[in-house]
Amino acid sequence: MTTDQVDVLVVGAGLAGLHTATLLARQGHEVLLVERRPTLTGAIRTTGIFVRRTLEDFPLPPDCLGPAIRRVVLYPPGLRRPVTLDSARDEYRVGDMAPLYVAAARAATDAGVRIALGTRYAGRRGEVFLLAGRDGPTGVRARFVVGADGARSRVARDLALDRNRHLLVGAEEVFGVPRGDGPPAFHCVLDPAVAPGYLAWVVNDGRHAHVGVAGYAHRFRDGLRGALRRFAATAPGLSGVDRPEEVERRGGPIPVGGVLRRIGCVDGLLVGDAAGAVSPLTAGGLDPCLRLSELAAAVLDEALRAGRPTALAHYDGAALRARFRGRLLLRQGLAQVRTPAVAAAAFTLLRTPPGRAAAGRILFGDGSFPAVAPFAARPATGRCR
Ligand SMILES: Cc1cc2nc3c(=O)[nH]c(=O)nc-3n(C[C@H](O)[C@H](O)[C@H](O)COP(=O)(O)OP(=O)(O)OC[C@H]3O[C@@H](n4cnc5c(N)ncnc54)[C@H](O)[C@@H]3O)c2cc1C
Repeated sequence: MTTDQVDVLVVGAGLAGLHTATLLARQGHEVLLVERRPTLTGAIRTTGIFVRRTLEDFPLPPDCLGPAIRRVVLYPPGLRRPVTLDSARDEYRVGDMAPLYVAAARAATDAGVRIALGTRYAGRRGEVFLLAGRDGPTGVRARFVVGADGARSRVARDLALDRNRHLLVGAEEVFGVPRGDGPPAFHCVLDPAVAPGYLAWVVNDGRHAHVGVAGYAHRFRDGLRGALRRFAATAPGLSGVDRPEEVERRGGPIPVGGVLRRIGCVDGLLVGDAAGAVSPLTAGGLDPCLRLSELAAAVLDEALRAGRPTALAHYDGAALRARFRGRLLLRQGLAQVRTPAVAAAAFTLLRTPPGRAAAGRILFGDGSFPAVAPFAARPATGRCR
């Protein structure tokens, strides 16, 4: 078995891995990024809704972003008397994720990252990290390993760090739509019969529609796919739109237990979903994964320069987690919406002025993830095409 040597091995080329790898390479470190998928444009696991705060702080390639969305429509079971919330600002844009990942990979390679696609991290033997690639098994020695390998992180297990236990599962269909009459809108349905413990959604930005459901896996009475089929049959926000025969299917687990406490040790650290960096309430993980990656890269840079892995002690999930208490409580509340009657009662509150104000703060606020590291507005993801 051949053995390579690098400063940092990053496992997983989602947004967290790509961003962390790019930042480290820009700081002059030798980085190998391995991804088990053979291409970055297949098996996408996200709707790709970016919130205003991300759009303001991270220079995502504009040609990879859909039109701005200012309207959110909330529906009870039965879809009657929805609550419409309009923001005065551009709140969301949906990423065209395939080209966006490709642009991020190009930015990474431009910075000097070596990317190995179709290469699975397969474990650790002493000092050597084992990889299974197109040309068979290989090994790599790295000063540090970064687990950017998603909600069910193998790296977390091998480093004996904390692992996600509280997960939702989500699935969606994506297809092109004709430009409609209404404004781009994000429709959310609170109905435990199709989305037990979370929401069903339609995002229609006048270019693409995303129709999805998410919830606790064991509570779907006819499975995730069955719930998606039922929801898609009556989904709101799609008048005048015919669902094509061929649709893109996306899906995956979503950790909603909050940032894990132990996300770093002397041998490496976790970022993104692997670290549980997802808002427990909204299940948004794109903003958190970018922000936590900034902190991870800064900490690793310090450790590599000083030659002291103790710098990784600053990478403390417990401190971040403390700032999520409110959202963890609200997640528990959402998890308790088990019957249509409870969901309908929640809408009675939502229709009051304080209820609308609270919903506006959650949907249009700045609270996706605490600011964890100073960052300059640098072109981290390059251009799209
Ligand atoms: C259906 C769905 C919709 C969502 N929609 C939104 C949304 O609209 N907005 C939002 O903010 N958040 C959303 N989220 C959450 C968000 O997508 C994630 O939090 C975010 O993408 C996490 O990025 P990541 O890089 O940490 O993980 P991932 O994007 O999951 O990347 C992990 C990568 O690691 C690779 N990998 C895993 N194991 C190995 C291994 N052993 N060897 C090599 N590679 C490996 C995987 O192939 C994968 O590419 C959604 C999640 C789901 C499931």
